Amino acid sequence: MVRFGVDLGGTKIELIALERDGKEVFRKRLPTPREYQATLNTITGLVHEAESVLGVMGSVGVGIPGVISPFTGLVKNANSTWINGQPLDRDLSELLNREVRVANDANCFAVSEATDGVAAGKGLVFGVILGTGCGGGIAINGRVHGGGNGIGGEWGHNPLPWMTKDEHQSTQCFCGNHDCIETYISGTGFVRDYNLHGKKVTSGVEIMSRYHDGEPLAQEVFTRYLDRLARALAHLINVLDPDAIVLGGGMSNVDEIYKQLPELLPHYVLGRECKTPVLKNEFGCSSGVRGAAWLWAKSEG
Ligand SMILES: [Zn+2]
Repeated sequence: MVRFGVDLGGTKIELIALERDGKEVFRKRLPTPREYQATLNTITGLVHEAESVLGVMGSVGVGIPGVISPFTGLVKNANSTWINGQPLDRDLSELLNREVRVANDANCFAVSEATDGVAAGKGLVFGVILGTGCGGGIAINGRVHGGGNGIGGEWGHNPLPWMTKDEHQSTQCFCGNHDCIETYISGTGFVRDYNLHGKKVTSGVEIMSRYHDGEPLAQEVFTRYLDRLARALAHLINVLDPDAIVLGGGMSNVDEIYKQLPELLPHYVLGRECKTPVLKNEFGCSSGVRGAAWLWAKSEG
């Protein structure tokens, strides 16, 4: 059976078709209409087009920047706000005449990397997307762990662990709380910390270029970033002890993280021992859409 994965983003909707062995056989992206009915039409249109090109029907999974509330059955927490409050999975299931699975995009990322990515075959995989924000998702044996409240993996909105006096109450998160992990370890948080010192850069890439040139401020800010990332991940390891942590998003391209983080983690993990692999994703920005396709697992035929 062909698996269709749809990544519903704020600016584009992408559809991919995977064979059972993970081979990509179709891909198309369209701009996201900022209106609910048009979004439904775009998704169903893409599925029908792919089916007509490939000459087969397939299962459909959709990754969204939010979650379906287990209490109301309606989308919540999406920054694509026009899908909030809508029964997206039910509407798509009806329009496409089959069960459509919908999951948070960070959960899709974890499923992708746990299915045939860098963490293939690992039992418990935690995926972290370090981009504009900080998404987290859990895959257990390749399946999403959404949780009874639908917020499994949202560790980015826990407070930064072992905060210093300077860190305490120093950031404000969009979610309404102070000092969320996201505000420190997202790419945005990295740039914010650098710019607090009177400089003006717009990207983590620029800071890392200055780091490699030996600029003291860039070295200080990256060292602090790594320490914060180690604290945040150690908290997670103390709770879940995952078989692998996979990083995605812009910051996952910083190779220094993989060199230096393994030495820092044991300073914070209980018992001072930690060999949890922290890995760079295999599929880059395709991981979300591939994971949406893998919401229908290989074992399901
Ligand atoms: Zn928050």
